[in-house]
Amino acid sequence: MNYPETIRNLIECYKKLPGIGEKTAERYALASLNLDEDTINLFSNSLIDVKTKIKKCVKCNSFSEDELCEICKNKKRNHKTICVVEEAKNVILFEKIGIYDGLYYVLEGLISPLEGIDPDKIKISKLLERINEEKIEEVIIAVKPSIEGETTALYITRMLKDTGVKVSKIAHGVPLGAEMEYLDSLTLEVALENRNIISS
Ligand code: ZN
Repeated sequence: MNYPETIRNLIECYKKLPGIGEKTAERYALASLNLDEDTINLFSNSLIDVKTKIKKCVKCNSFSEDELCEICKNKKRNHKTICVVEEAKNVILFEKIGIYDGLYYVLEGLISPLEGIDPDKIKISKLLERINEEKIEEVIIAVKPSIEGETTALYITRMLKDTGVKVSKIAHGVPLGAEMEYLDSLTLEVALENRNIISS
C-alpha cells in the first residue's frame, strides 16, 4: 500500500523545494509526524508569513517587510555608495561578513544575450534613477565572474560613463562562473577591499 493521502500530500509539498527528491521528501514528511503542535504551527505560520509579509524594498529590491528595507532606512550607513548584486540573497551574504556599510541594489538577474535577457528584463533603469536622485558617488559591482556578470558590469559602466560616478568591480580570485554564495567570507572581504576601479 501507499501512504495515506495526507502524508502523500506532504511528501509532494516537500518535493517542490529545490534539491529534494522522493526519498528525502518521504523522510521529511515522516519526521514532520513527530513534531509537536507548537512546532507545526510555527512551520505553517512561517510559510504563510514569508508569502504575505515579505515584499521587495522599493529602492533596492531586497527582502523587506516594509516599503523600505532596514538598510535603505538606516541613516548611519554610507548613502553615497551602492553595491550592485544579482540576487537579494547576495545582500544577506555581504551583511553576514559585515565589512560593507553602504547601500545595495539588487538587479534580479544578469544580462544574457544568449538567453535573450536584455537590459530591459532586469532592473537596470531603476538603478540609474536612484544613482541620479540620491547623488551616489561610487557604484561597486559585485556580480559573479561569468560572461553574464561581465556583460552586466560593462553595461553598467557604460551607462554611468558621463555621470562622474566612480565605478568599481570586486576582485575575483575564484574560477570563472563560481557562484557568489560559495565564496567564503575571507575571499569576499579581500575581493571587496581589492576592488578595481573601472571608471571614475
Ligand atoms: Zn532597500
